[in-house]
Amino acid sequence: MSARLCELDGREVRATLEAEADVVIVGSGPAGATVARTLAQRGVSVIVLEEGHEAQPKDFVASGVRAMAALYRDMGTSIAFGNVSMPYLQGRVVGGTSVVNGAISWRLPREIVEAWSAADRALGEALTYDEIAAAEARVEERLNVRPTDPAIAGAKNLLLGKGAEALGVAHRPIRRNVDGCVGEGRCLQGCPHGAKLSMDRSFLPDAVAAGGRIFAGMRVEHVVHQRGRARAVTGKTAAGARFEIRARRAVVLAASAIQTPCLLRRSGLTQGPVGDGLSAHPGVSVTGRFDAPVRNWRGATQGHEVTGHRHEGIKLEALGFDVSLLATRVPGVGQDFARRLAELDRYAVWGAAIRARALGSVRPGPTRPLVRYSLTDEDVRTTRRAVRILGDTLLAAGAREVYPGVPGFDAVVRDPAHMARFEAEGSLVAGDYAMSMTHLFGTARMGGDPAKSVVRPDFRHHATEALYVADSSVFPGNLGVNPQIAIMALAELCADRVARS
Ligand SMILES: Cc1cc2nc3c(=O)[nH]c(=O)nc-3n(C[C@H](O)[C@H](O)[C@H](O)COP(=O)(O)OP(=O)(O)OC[C@H]3O[C@@H](n4cnc5c(N)ncnc54)[C@H](O)[C@@H]3O)c2cc1C
Ligand code: SF4
Repeated sequence: MSARLCELDGREVRATLEAEADVVIVGSGPAGATVARTLAQRGVSVIVLEEGHEAQPKDFVASGVRAMAALYRDMGTSIAFGNVSMPYLQGRVVGGTSVVNGAISWRLPREIVEAWSAADRALGEALTYDEIAAAEARVEERLNVRPTDPAIAGAKNLLLGKGAEALGVAHRPIRRNVDGCVGEGRCLQGCPHGAKLSMDRSFLPDAVAAGGRIFAGMRVEHVVHQRGRARAVTGKTAAGARFEIRARRAVVLAASAIQTPCLLRRSGLTQGPVGDGLSAHPGVSVTGRFDAPVRNWRGATQGHEVTGHRHEGIKLEALGFDVSLLATRVPGVGQDFARRLAELDRYAVWGAAIRARALGSVRPGPTRPLVRYSLTDEDVRTTRRAVRILGDTLLAAGAREVYPGVPGFDAVVRDPAHMARFEAEGSLVAGDYAMSMTHLFGTARMGGDPAKSVVRPDFRHHATEALYVADSSVFPGNLGVNPQIAIMALAELCADRVARS
């Protein structure tokens, strides 16, 4: 296989490997790629270690199921256990989850940063809203973040706007990091046109152009630390050989809010609430049937959003699934199901991201992380309300039928009065809602107090020198909006602190 970005492919490294750089970065998603780019452009030598492999646009397939097998961690079967068993999705590929994300780009809301500052003065003094906003502007400029062009939005996105407009709720085309998007609707399987400016098509090439090195197929198992200082990382290549990569100046962990706390714990770095405080935006979806074709799999994958319920902790987004996943979102059995499958082009699926209060935990397990996460009673009520709002919006957009998909309530709803009953009669049992998580935070929080946080406000580990955490593990909580731009902005600031150290 010819590697485009990566100097090494761990599938071909069968003998013990040793290497050295100023800074060793674990993970090549938005956090790791940003740190690599920022440091390399400042003349710092960096090696990025990524467990996943390099993929090219021509490798990306339309089938959601096959894409999950190729590009997602655990083939998309990672599960958090609690009062509802909830899949959490993560990419495992060069570029991390950005390769399979929806390209939705949001800045950190001011009120979130203000709440972080109010809760922790040291954090507020070290990390100001203005500094974060300036970093976000730089990130957005490079990633060509723009509102979705109606010409490539497709019916599912335009209908969501129509429904919200009819209800008088604020909505807008989603701002996305794409260049040359033709509305192929395959962002979650990897863009076959290379139009999504995911990390493998933006920050990682920038890092390599500035002298950065990327090793793929390298699973880091431990951070080596001696006399209170991080010195190296060790692990195994995809071919089974051992490696040790030494860091002259710093080790930066950017392996995601699930893998980073596991790495810390496996390395004996248990200072502070490491692995606790897992915060998320669980998502729920509802399907509607329209008379005219919608072709849910066409148009910008996620091109329109309803922002008017954010104050309730609910944000609606159009979802883009290929037919293999869409077929799992329609009700019925036997002949009825067969009839619905024959008209799959009439269905739209819209989702709601919930700003949940729940706090879970992550611990290293024998084969994969043990993730525990239970919705609070209030989260379940918010989820129930979100299902009702999704149903209302589908009906307002002209859907003939809506399928709430919640046991104990009618499988098919045809009018708003019936949908309104869901908010009173719908289940309050968490496990009755089919949900999944894609935004994860808070498992190695930053803060001034070592008893309540894992890293200092300058991203440095409280107890171990030359060790930094750059990913959303450091966020003090969830955001209520899509996190990738905020993650990149904070990672840029982390890189700045590393460069100045
Ligand atoms: C389906 C989906 C859609 C999404 N859509 C959006 C969206 O539209 N907008 C948005 O803002 N956010 C979206 N997100 C979330 C967003 O993509 C993530 O929040 C973001 O990618 C997290 O960045 P990260 O760098 O912290 O982690 P990741 O992107 O997960 O990258 C971490 C990388 O580290 C690697 N790694 C982990 N452990 C090790 C190890 N031990 N050794 C070596 N490498 C390791 C992983 O393989 C991975 O490549 C979506 C997420 C999903 C799953
Ligand atoms: S909508 Fe299609 S063309 Fe546009 S970025 Fe996503 S996969 Fe690529």
